[in-house]
Amino acid sequence: MKRITAIIAALAAVVLAVFLISDARTAKGETLDFFSMNTYMHAEIEGRNAKENLNEIKSIIEKLDYSLLSRKSNNSFVYQLNKNGEASLTKELTEYFLLMINVSQSSNGAFDFTLGSVSDLWSFGNNPSIPDKNVLADTLSHSGYEKIAIKDGKIILGDKSAVIDLGASGKGIALDSAKKYLETQDIEKAIINAGGSVLLYGDDTFTVGIRNPYGNATSTVAEITLNGGCISTSGCYERYFEENGTLYHHILDPKTGYPVQNNLLSVTVICESGILSDVLSTACYVLGIEKGSALAEKYGATAIFITKENEIHIGTLSENSIRLMDNDFVIRSDG
Ligand code: AMP
Ligand code: MG
Repeated sequence: MKRITAIIAALAAVVLAVFLISDARTAKGETLDFFSMNTYMHAEIEGRNAKENLNEIKSIIEKLDYSLLSRKSNNSFVYQLNKNGEASLTKELTEYFLLMINVSQSSNGAFDFTLGSVSDLWSFGNNPSIPDKNVLADTLSHSGYEKIAIKDGKIILGDKSAVIDLGASGKGIALDSAKKYLETQDIEKAIINAGGSVLLYGDDTFTVGIRNPYGNATSTVAEITLNGGCISTSGCYERYFEENGTLYHHILDPKTGYPVQNNLLSVTVICESGILSDVLSTACYVLGIEKGSALAEKYGATAIFITKENEIHIGTLSENSIRLMDNDFVIRSDG
């Protein structure tokens, strides 16, 4: 953990989100870098009208943030839901929320998308500090996914002081939206990296790098080879600060309201769905290796855990699919 101190927390929030490297860039491809959802995004497309399609992907993601996910934009679904305590759901939103509730239940509350006001007390994005213990306990008592109801086409907050925060799922939702668009176009291959959640699209083999938790945004600890899908990483190095030798990071234990304390540096989850990979990476981080692996397995996903002992636990991933890039780490195959 001591090598992490070199990274400045404020910068970590925005600059260090990108973790993917890819050998998929070819002369045929076009690329686009942009900033949305408070993180850096990178997109690569091969196929007809690649440039136009990149711009379309960018505007789809920007619109998604503005109209759905953002807690700050007055026009967004999440803003209105938090303000009014209820909101009407589309079919697509119903599916997303049912999935999140399902993972909340399966993870025994380790995943909880109602912690918005608790996260705000820590203020990881901007001038973070340790909240007052009593204020934290009181704020936490108003959160809890089990207070959320979905009925008659609406989502209803049982406690009006609960604050919905899609920080652990929004980037995955962005990937699913991008994928739906790509499927309507004549595109051979695309890679969309939404701040650490990545869509690998097309009938091809992709090589992706898992971010080195001790390194900078482009430093990788291992490379994995995949035939498409979505891959998301949650790490304690993304948004954090240090006080009196303790590292406080942005993934919270919903039972205490404090950052999760365990032996993990990061968790990477691979599966077909963007939202599921994003949600599971956060949930698995909270649960730790044993329970996290079981959770990933339940959803047919692969989870890779990197520990503070510099071990990379690859779970159900084949050893042939991973290549070590940093010899300070060792690969552990649990199977
Ligand atoms: P991710 O980077 O996908 O792991 O998401 C982390 C973000 O999700 C945080 O910055 C918070 O906004 C939110 N969050 C923190 N802890 C949890 C949790 N236990 N369950 C769900 N969302 C969380
Ligand atoms: Mg997540």
